[in-house]
Amino acid sequence: MVPVEARLRVVIVGAGLSGIATAISAALSGHSVEVIEQAKELAEVGAGLQITPNASRLLQYWNLPASLWEAAAEPTMLTVHRYSGQVLALDSSFDKNIRTKYHAPFVDLHRVDLQQALYARSQELGVTFHLGERIEHIDFDTTTVRSVTGKIFSGDLIVAADGLWSQCREAFVGKKDEPIPTGDLAYRIVLNADQISDPDLKALVQNPEVHFWIGPGAHAVGYSLRGGQVYNIVLLVPDNLPPGVSRQAGSVDEMRQLFVGWDPILNRFLTYVTNVDKWRLMHHGEMEKWVNDTSNLVFTGDSCHPMLPYLAQGANSSLEDGAVLGLLLGNMTDKAQLPSILRLYESLRKSRGEAIVRETFKQRHDFHMEDGEEQRKRDEIFASQLGKEIKGAFPSRWTCPEVQPWLYGYDAIKEVKKAVAENPDLFSQQTTPRSFCQIL
Ligand SMILES: Cc1cc2nc3c(=O)[nH]c(=O)nc-3n(C[C@H](O)[C@H](O)[C@H](O)COP(=O)(O)OP(=O)(O)OC[C@H]3O[C@@H](n4cnc5c(N)ncnc54)[C@H](O)[C@@H]3O)c2cc1C
Repeated sequence: MVPVEARLRVVIVGAGLSGIATAISAALSGHSVEVIEQAKELAEVGAGLQITPNASRLLQYWNLPASLWEAAAEPTMLTVHRYSGQVLALDSSFDKNIRTKYHAPFVDLHRVDLQQALYARSQELGVTFHLGERIEHIDFDTTTVRSVTGKIFSGDLIVAADGLWSQCREAFVGKKDEPIPTGDLAYRIVLNADQISDPDLKALVQNPEVHFWIGPGAHAVGYSLRGGQVYNIVLLVPDNLPPGVSRQAGSVDEMRQLFVGWDPILNRFLTYVTNVDKWRLMHHGEMEKWVNDTSNLVFTGDSCHPMLPYLAQGANSSLEDGAVLGLLLGNMTDKAQLPSILRLYESLRKSRGEAIVRETFKQRHDFHMEDGEEQRKRDEIFASQLGKEIKGAFPSRWTCPEVQPWLYGYDAIKEVKKAVAENPDLFSQQTTPRSFCQIL
């Protein structure tokens, strides 16, 4: 807990996962936190979310309601299939291996369940939410944001947690800065177990596992949610949305056509789909800085490192951002330390966030190969490791011994402790001549 004189008023723009994570972490550190969100109610759009150990350990640390864990599904196996259905990679003790290696679980959650749990915890910690307020203007001179309805919110620090279409990012760079298409789009599907009559499929839903099917220019992922009562499928395919459209109702027939000839199991799932949305997958170039020159604006989550969802790290790394920022701010002894602390946050987070973004594009390359020489070589690597302990670089980073450890092994709490220990001058310095003022 920070001393009273170092307590900041933190204004967070956006109540997505990065915003609420930052709110919890900053409130736990003793700061006063307000979150401004354009939506009138918090109901995360989308469907499932894979939460990997680098973030599940934070959810445990934040002491979220027990109902969250009851609403989770912990997959026992992870399988990568060639689009025909042939098994390319299989971790048949996925849950156990993950817990043994990383001391935290890999769980699949409905987004709403996670957002609601984070929201409940942040309210418990005294965070104030202003819903239905869209921020349209930021004044860096006064550390103030103004909403479309004319409300003004001011503080000592503005946290840009406003996602892919960040207004804060545009205010920071001083020009229009729209996200760029990645070339892919996602069909997102949620099926209830009770709407599935096919016994094989029902068994797959009720016994949580993760399945990938990888093929030319596309892949699919399926996993259970809510203890096996719900199945989440995401189909990742080439983007054919019209220019300027980021989300649109899709045609179920068009969707099924894209998967003709793929694994019959996947196709049997698709027969249960009655309507579906298409989401364009977008990203941004790297930002030069995540902190402004006046040290009163800092970026988190998709506003600064949007990525392809091919390693399921967008939300996980947003939670990491929030944790690191709040924990660093918890070591403040004087408000004058804020600029140095924000720069330390940037140095801890920016290179990691950007490395993950790059890795998601590499995963696309390895998952979306056209049939041919390169794909045959890839599948030889898969085949050479099937049923064995995987060694060396592996085309599925989900179980790759060179990538999985740095993704899942990251411990935001330890990282901050280490950084604080390595920077004693920063946290002990008394930059405000407080004693002098007091004497006066
Ligand atoms: C198909 C798909 C599957 C995915 N699967 C996974 C997964 O399995 N695991 C994973 O970790 N990640 C996944 N992701 C990525 C993940 O969803 C995002 O990275 C994450 O939600 C980003 O959180 P955020 O809080 O930074 O941004 P957002 O969730 O976009 O939140 C931003 C918030 O700010 C609000 N806002 C925006 N502008 C303003 C404004 N001007 N004023 C006030 N409020 C504003 C918005 O309404 C919103 O609530 C997936 C993404 C996609 C597209």
